[in-house]
Amino acid sequence: MIHDLPVKTLNHAELTIEGYSRAAVQTYWRVPELKLGFDLGAQPWSFMGTPVWFVSHSHMDHFMALPIYVARRRMMKMDPPTIYLPEHVVEPMQRILRLLSRLDRGRLPCTLVPVAPGDEIELSRELVVTTSATRHSVPSLGFVVWERRRKLKPELAGLSGDEIRDRRLAGEEVTNETRLPQLAYLGDSAPEGLDACPAMYQARVLIMEVTFVSPRHRKDRIHKFGHMHLDDVVERRERFANELVIASHFSTRYHAGQIRHYVEKALPDMLDGRLHLWI
Ligand SMILES: [Zn+2]
Ligand SMILES: [Zn+2]
Repeated sequence: MIHDLPVKTLNHAELTIEGYSRAAVQTYWRVPELKLGFDLGAQPWSFMGTPVWFVSHSHMDHFMALPIYVARRRMMKMDPPTIYLPEHVVEPMQRILRLLSRLDRGRLPCTLVPVAPGDEIELSRELVVTTSATRHSVPSLGFVVWERRRKLKPELAGLSGDEIRDRRLAGEEVTNETRLPQLAYLGDSAPEGLDACPAMYQARVLIMEVTFVSPRHRKDRIHKFGHMHLDDVVERRERFANELVIASHFSTRYHAGQIRHYVEKALPDMLDGRLHLWI
């Protein structure tokens, strides 16, 4: 195992959340069980096996490792990855890849897929990803990963298995689709971006940025630059229905002890123990 970049790991139910995120330094997350990751601000060696990534926006600490990731997968003879990017980023990134490919004298095979707010991406029969616009200093997306299940229509609940099968074979739709938000990733955003996507408050796990925590850092200025303050979390504390809320992307102005101090002072119960600081 090569320890090249910091990776923190947390298990929640059947999901493993891995990653690291500090504002202006590097942001990368992945969930091996879902075979997907968010943001490519850097690429720990162990992350290269994840074949699908979602990039929230074009700040360098969120996407500059994209070419390195693509090159490593080629070198290791893995399939070309699929990377979803805000639509305006795709063409410039293709140009960057062409230039780097020329300098590196190596191909950079990958599929770059443009996404816009409100899109729905079917990853498999069970998994769907939806996108929403966040509020940041460049166009930016948030993502929700939904688990799809098919459930027998309630009006058919009294029928026997044979009867249900006969109806199905006769072409009748016997199930309804239900969707459960498993995981939400806010990316970088002022609080409006979170509020605009209610599923983020409902997802089992929410990965959220809380860039600023000190009362000295003023909320209005922070919102202008498209970030969240701890006070925004406190104001919304009743809305978080999540089993786990991961607070991350803290400013480098703070060290770990300061972050803990401010958060525990503002939220002594840590959202009933559901708030986890990614430091
Ligand atoms: Zn950022
Ligand atoms: Zn940013």
